[in-house]
Amino acid sequence: MDTYMITVSFFILLVGLCFGSFLNVVVLRAFSGESISYPASKCPVCQKPLYWWHNIPLLSYILLRGKCYFCKTHISWQYPLVEAITAILFLLAFLKIGMSMYLIFIWAVIFMSLVLAVTDIKEHVVFLMHCLIFGLIGLIYHAGATGIMALNGTEMTWLQNPLSNSILGVLLGGLIMLVYFGVSYVMAGGRMAMGDGDIYIAMALGACFGWEKIWIIIIMGFLIQALITGVIFEYRLFQEKNYKLFGGILAVAILALGYWLSNKAGLFEENALYLLGYTIALIGTAIYVCRQLFGKVLGSKTEGLAVPFGPALVIAGFVMIFFPFAA
Ligand SMILES: [Zn+2]
Repeated sequence: MDTYMITVSFFILLVGLCFGSFLNVVVLRAFSGESISYPASKCPVCQKPLYWWHNIPLLSYILLRGKCYFCKTHISWQYPLVEAITAILFLLAFLKIGMSMYLIFIWAVIFMSLVLAVTDIKEHVVFLMHCLIFGLIGLIYHAGATGIMALNGTEMTWLQNPLSNSILGVLLGGLIMLVYFGVSYVMAGGRMAMGDGDIYIAMALGACFGWEKIWIIIIMGFLIQALITGVIFEYRLFQEKNYKLFGGILAVAILALGYWLSNKAGLFEENALYLLGYTIALIGTAIYVCRQLFGKVLGSKTEGLAVPFGPALVIAGFVMIFFPFAA
């Protein structure tokens, strides 16, 4: 990296921190129902309006040592964390994309994704207004892109143009989630197993990523949710000293990873006995885990384990943005 890139990167980190600070305001005021521009920020506990130097992202938290200047109430570490994550994602997007209109669009996608994830994680709420704004960002950007392509005389069929890709993304995202909604409703015996907010998040992501990518994002979302749930479940088993099940699940995970790697390396093709042995070991461990799982643990220890799907979808969107296979 040359001096120019370092300077620009530093500047983008500062911009990202400011947007992260604004993001905290957007989330807080969505809960309190206040406007995002007025009134001035105040301490949620003592209600005293903050001084200007209480509002500097990251720095204020350090200067105030994580406490309100007036009443000394602890300020949640979530605020500086959200600011830092926003800044880092803004910078990563710049390093991947470079300065362009597309970068501004992706920054908006990152911003709205984080707004949805933070409100969902904090209070298990998805605001329809946030999803609407998120979806509109996608539709407007792709309408603009279609307009520019038309002006340049780019030949495209109706299916190839970015706007119809975006509209179909909204429909496909909504449809997949609606089917999932229905299936989980029936499987949970007529109880709501998920919130309708997840449908709106999928539709908004569909507007931003288009129909060709939204179904991949949703599938990745399921995998990420399963992974997060699994890790939390393992952590609880460890805390409860249920080492049999903890070890069993860990063994299945490691064996499954080894299976995938061996298959990729072509080890199975060369050695059928290895494949047979490995398969038996994997299935055997899996059966052991299932017997442990359904024998005593399930039912009592799984309550409250449901990880909200919204944040998993958002993470899948980030994977789509940052991984090499994404455009
Ligand atoms: Zn205070």
